[in-house]
Order: sequence, then structure tokens, then C-alpha cells
Amino acid sequence: MTRLENALMLLRSCYGYDSFRGHQWDIIDHTLDSGDSIVLMPTGGGKSLCFQIPGLMSEDGFAIVISPLLALMNDQIDALQQNGVPALALNSEKSDTENRQTVDLLMAGKVKLLYISPEKLLTEIDRWSSAITDRICLFAVDEAHCISQWGHDFRPEYTQLGTLKQRFPHIPVMALTATADRITRNDIAKQLHIPDARLFISSFDRPNISLNVVQGSTGRVKFRQIVQFINLHRGESGIIYCLRRKDTERMAAELTRLGIKAEPFHAAMSVKEKTRIQRDFINDDLKVVCATIAFGMGIDKSNVRYVIHSNMPRNIESYYQEIGRAGRDGLPADALLFYNYGDMVTLQHFAQQSGQVQVNMDKLKRMQQFAESGVCRRRILLNYFNERFDHDCHNCDVCDNPPERFDGSTLAQMALSAIKRTEEQAGMYTITDILRGSNKSELIEKGYDKLKTFGVGHDLGYAEWNAYLLQMLQLGLFDVAYDDNNHLKITEYGNEVLYGRQKIQLNRYERRDIRKREPRPVEEPTIPDFTSTTTTTAKVMDKELFEKLRDVRKALAQASHIAPYMVFSDKSLQAMATEKPTTQAEFGIIYGVGTVKCQKYWRPFTAAIRDHLNHN
Ligand code: ADP
Ligand code: ZN
Repeated sequence: MTRLENALMLLRSCYGYDSFRGHQWDIIDHTLDSGDSIVLMPTGGGKSLCFQIPGLMSEDGFAIVISPLLALMNDQIDALQQNGVPALALNSEKSDTENRQTVDLLMAGKVKLLYISPEKLLTEIDRWSSAITDRICLFAVDEAHCISQWGHDFRPEYTQLGTLKQRFPHIPVMALTATADRITRNDIAKQLHIPDARLFISSFDRPNISLNVVQGSTGRVKFRQIVQFINLHRGESGIIYCLRRKDTERMAAELTRLGIKAEPFHAAMSVKEKTRIQRDFINDDLKVVCATIAFGMGIDKSNVRYVIHSNMPRNIESYYQEIGRAGRDGLPADALLFYNYGDMVTLQHFAQQSGQVQVNMDKLKRMQQFAESGVCRRRILLNYFNERFDHDCHNCDVCDNPPERFDGSTLAQMALSAIKRTEEQAGMYTITDILRGSNKSELIEKGYDKLKTFGVGHDLGYAEWNAYLLQMLQLGLFDVAYDDNNHLKITEYGNEVLYGRQKIQLNRYERRDIRKREPRPVEEPTIPDFTSTTTTTAKVMDKELFEKLRDVRKALAQASHIAPYMVFSDKSLQAMATEKPTTQAEFGIIYGVGTVKCQKYWRPFTAAIRDHLNHN
């Protein structure tokens, strides 16, 4: 049997898949030849198989998987054990006895994958005899961007990992990440001492996610738009990301009051509460979660249909990771980002307080450019990840509605003269109020209602002015004095425009009706390249059967106290509801059904299918 045949056999028996995706096989093959590698793949791209298969293929050896997040680690191990793969973890949460047992199993060659945190590995490996270290066939460094100061999630405990290659030069190292720009990527190679690592870059495009940005909306207007959007997605699962804990709570409460059941999720909640919410969300008992960034890591829920960013994320990496939680099943999904000036100020403040001011400010700037872009958003996103993408995507708001440019000099003069007349002692929102002639008491107290510019811009809406002022800020007509209460200060260029010596162009503001995108033709639900031999193209999924199979899955999951997706993914259930297997043999070739799961589950599922067929 060739190496590839051997690997494919494992892929079928352990995971129930028929072919490798994208670069997976090349990466595995290179590793089996003891090559080092850097693997860049988007979330959901299939990174785990790249290091799991070499571990499984090693005769009496095992692969070490270094991972920073305990929850993720446990999740992967549970999933592997469900498939009958001998995987274990060594970490500080376990008792000494448990950890000692794990080491014994390693000695006995009974473990194929060892998950471990970086700090634990470095203390542990010194104690291991060569009987163990000789068996190590691979160091897989998951979330490898954590090693780099240039990455968005630097973790000091990762920096020591560079010593591994020096101490064990013959053991291949595989660094994996879903987010790395060129600088971070080079830094990973340097820090891990793998200068000759082969680089495997998969496309980061997720063409089924439509990208949309709403500029300028704040407060009630924004909330109304969110409600409108959710109403168009009734019955579908979605995540709303907010910047602060209290925002998640308020958002969830207000949505619930309007009959949209939603729950908050953030780091300060108890583990029990968080587990319950995750479980309800995964089981589709809860459709909407209002979360801080903590939510979504390590949940493999394939049918999240939309992600809303109620506040702008700190950087493109986070944005991309968060929207990536939508549409993992390959079906159409929506990403909706709200972008306003207030968030910019808050985020700038966070960046200023952070350990790496310059890096974080730059990353924020790139995020802002994305939000304000007048060109296809996917182009910006993919170019950010250094991927060449040289055409318009036709699945973003800019492609749908290319901005119309107009001579904005008069509008700019109104704004600039308002700034001038406040003696540069007002912030962006006050200027908007002055231009619109608002009767807010602060304005009157300060005598701003007496200014000549008061109300000159009353025929433009609040969000409209906010959006134009943002553009003017971007064009450099004025600066925000962060050291002076965020007051606006006119630049030299701004003066040129104010006195009519220069003209400027603005992108026409479009009042965005929140609407649902027409479903575009997408490749069929049980994505074909995963099932190379069985053709499912002609068949359609039986929705009713799918729902029944979900119930079966739920009951089985409850009985063994695991999450439903550990039993089977939605995609597997969809394949069952399409193929309708009624025998063990038929069941065994379904997407995601490996040998162990086939044994364990073929009876209840085929029984439900037969029952359904008899009734129809
Ligand atoms: P990542 O770690 O890159 O976010 P995962 O390794 O969790 O992605 O894989 C995402 C999903 O795709 C998982 O459900 C996984 O089982 C599935 N998958 C990975 N490789 C394949 C493959 N070759 N064929 C079918 N499904 C796959
Ligand atoms: Zn586009």
C-alpha cells in the first residue's frame, strides 16, 4: 500500500471522509518526509487533520500538539475519542495521577496525539527519558501567531517554543494559524527556528459569506437596523458581537423584549452559565447570542447564518475570525458590520492602553480602511492576508452598490466652518448637532445655537453627517485631538478646502435598507468535493427527515453527555437526509461516518430513516 492509500484508509475509518481537501495531503506528505512547515488556512479550513494524520500514521510514535486554549484542547480530544482515536492531554487542570497515567501510556506507545499547553510542554519534556522523546514524530504548534509580537494575540509563553527545534533538530515542526500577515508569518519562522519551513497558504476566501458595512448609525437607529436584520433571518442562528459586557446584556434584554429570544455571553459569566448557552446555541434551542469576542472559539456549529458586529472589531484578524463562524456549511451567510466614530474613539483608546501601541494602532487603521472602503470589500480583506484577489466579488455591499462620487467641497466647508466657529472646542457629534440645528441643551448652554453655521446642514440626516464627517477625517481635513477631549482641529489641508483653494470628492451616502440578500446559487449543501466517489448531485435533502435525525442525534448526545455535534455534524445529517441509508453498509459510507461511529450509531439512525420512509 502506498503512503497515500494508507492515509486515505485512515481518513475513511477514523473520520468518515473520502478525500483530502486543498493542501492537506501535501502538508501531511511533507511532514512524513520530516519537513518543517507553516500552514495558513482559514477557520474551518481543516487544519487539524494535517497534524492528526501524521500522528496516526506513525507506527509507535506520537504527535505533540501545542495549543494555548484548554477548552479547545478538550474539545478536539473529545471529538477524536468519539472517532476512536487515542488522543490525550497533559495540562495543569488534571491531577498528578492522571498526568502520570498519560505518561505511562506514552511510554507504552498507546497514544497517537498528545495535546499540551506550551508552558507544560517545556517543563515536562525535560523530565522525559529518551524512551519517550524518541517516539515524538511531530511538533504541531497550533495558533502559531501567538508566538509573534506582531500577531494580534501575542502570548509570552509561546516564545520558549523556539528551543524545540534546537534541541530536536530531526523532529519536524508544523506551525498552524488562521491569521497571519506576511510580517507575522516571517516572524513565526524566525521564532520557531524553522527558516526552511515550507509555506502552505490556502485561500482565505469564504465566498458564501456576504460582507456588508453600515456606516454612521448609532444608538436607537443602529438597534432598529439590527432588529430589522434579525427579522429577515427569523428562525436562523446568529451571533451579535459587542465590544463591552454591558452592551451584550443590554442588547440581549432589548431583543428579548421585542420577542427575539437572545442571551448575553461574556467572560465574566460563570462556566456553568456559559456552557449552558453554548449548548443551547449548538442545539438550536437558542438562536441569537449577544457576545463579546469570547464566544465562538472551538464551537463547530455549521449553520450559523449571520454574524453582526454591533461595534467595530479591533483589527482585521479578529473581524475575519469572527465572521468565519458563519456559514461553515458552505451555504449563504451574512456578515454585517456597524461602523461609527464613537467606536473608533473607544478602540483608539484601547490601543493606546495596550502593550503594543504602534502595532495595535496600525491594525485598527487597517480595519477602519476596510470599513470605509469604496472598493470591493473582499478585495481589501484578501489583500490584507496577502492573497491576490484581483476581481470584484459581487457579494459585498460595495459591489452591489458602488459608491457614487460627488463634489463634496460645499459640505466640507459647512463642516469646517462649524469647527472653526466652535474655536475647535467641539467633538464630532457636537459638530453634527450644530450642522443639523439640534435643540439639545448643551448646545444652547454653550451658545452654539447662535453660530452662523447652526442648522445649515439640516437637510442631511444624523447618520449621513456622521458618515461624511468620517470621510473628511479620513481625507485629512481635520484631526481628532486625543489629548484634548477628542476635539476636532482643522489641518492645513482643511484650511485650503475651507477657503476654496482645493476641492474634495466624497462617496455618496446611501441610506441602507437592511434587506436580505437574494439567495445565490451555491454548490449543493453536502459539498461535493468531500464525497468524491458518491455523487449526491441529483438527490435533494429531505428537510423533514433532517429534523427527525436531529432529534435522534440530540437524544444520543444527551444519553452520553456530549454535544450533539460530537455525534455528527449538521453536514453529516444532511448527507443522511439526502442519501437515506437504511443498512449498516450504506450508513458506513456517509460523510463523517468512520468505523467507530458506524458501529455505534448505525442502528438508531437507519431505524429512523426506515421509519420515515415507511410513513411517506
Ligand atoms: P480548522 O482547525 O482549520 O478551523 P477543522 O480542522 O476544525 O478546521 O476542520 C473544519 C471542519 O472540516 C471539521 O468539521 C473537519 O472535520 C472538516 N474536515 C476537515 N478536513 C476534511 C476533509 N478532508 N473532508 C471533509 N471534511 C473535512
Ligand atoms: Zn465585492
